[in-house]
Amino acid sequence: MAKDRIISHLACEKCRARNYTQVVTRNRKLGDLKLSKHCSSCRAHTMHKETK
Ligand SMILES: [Zn+2]
Repeated sequence: MAKDRIISHLACEKCRARNYTQVVTRNRKLGDLKLSKHCSSCRAHTMHKETK
């Protein structure tokens, strides 16, 4: 159901830009996910942390 899904953002740890969004289920724990992704502001791969 739509209510069980929320949007989480993946934010660059260096510049705090929110470069990616994803839909996750509500009962999944937020904040543990860290991914190396490309940041358009830093122009490099940086660690991205999941935020609301
Ligand atoms: Zn960045």
